[in-house]
Amino acid sequence: SKKRVGVLGLGRMGAALAGALLGAGHDVVVWNRSPLKAGPLLDRGARLAATPAEAADADVVLSCLSTYDTQQPVLDATELSGRTLVNLTSGTPEQARGVAKWASSQGIDYVDGVIMAVPQGIGTPGARILYSGSETAFDTQRAVLEVLGEPVFLGEDAGLAALYDLALLGIMWSTMGGYLHALALVGSEGVAPDRFTPMALNWLTAVGGFLPGIGAQVASGDYETEVSALDINAAGLAMLVETSRAQGIGATVPAALKELFDRAVASGHGAHAIASVIEEIR
Ligand code: NDP
Repeated sequence: SKKRVGVLGLGRMGAALAGALLGAGHDVVVWNRSPLKAGPLLDRGARLAATPAEAADADVVLSCLSTYDTQQPVLDATELSGRTLVNLTSGTPEQARGVAKWASSQGIDYVDGVIMAVPQGIGTPGARILYSGSETAFDTQRAVLEVLGEPVFLGEDAGLAALYDLALLGIMWSTMGGYLHALALVGSEGVAPDRFTPMALNWLTAVGGFLPGIGAQVASGDYETEVSALDINAAGLAMLVETSRAQGIGATVPAALKELFDRAVASGHGAHAIASVIEEIR
């Protein structure tokens, strides 16, 4: 059924959220520091709030500003007492817990969300948004949240969504760092990205298949392996660092991992599985 939704922030992401809500037939009231950005949304039926407080006259208010520091003055001006706030601004778990505490002191039902998609993905099947905080508020607003992307509730600790976000982004950044290093390495011999990328994709699928096994070893603390011992992998990393330097490219990406794997070997995990590196990280 149709709901009234306030959206604070019409940057790339906020505008995509508001657009998806309009597309689903909701009554959307938007606020942005620079009101001109609302133009295309107003053409599609959104209403413009002159102040954040005007956007709070809604069943649920979504906030998507650049940072928590820019967001808090906006939230302070929004008069959200007795309402539900879904905070989709990216931050740390501590920042999320801080806003949750503030919200609780103001009588605001608080849900913290992190968007695992780009603006163009909002409202499409691949988009996922992770939430934590008030489960009651999440359940009540589920129909609205489903418009934006598949909603996944993680728990009542408001910091959980930000924790998962950073953990998942860490995988993304490591993967992209590894991929860019690979492109530089094969590129040093004239191999173009379009030739190498299909192989990288195929390999990533295989590597993804290792994750459940690694996770099970981390869970059990049993690092015995019949597959591949850490010292073989540390030796491989040494070869990658050496070859990168020999090819005249930087070695920062593999060197960081080599340092970590070498420390784990020095701690006695040479014969163990790669999963044992977590002991060194911890
Ligand atoms: P943009 O830079 O496009 O938009 C930033 C928004 O913050 C604008 O509405 C801007 O207003 C507002 N803003 C910045 N400073 C202030 C201020 N001092 N006072 C009031 N408003 C201010 O960023 P995105 O939309 O891309 O990102 C928004 C959030 O969404 C971020 O936390 C980001 O991490 C998160 N996110 C973004 C993703 C993406 O792919 N873009 C993916 C997942 C999460 P104005 O228009 O007036 O400048």
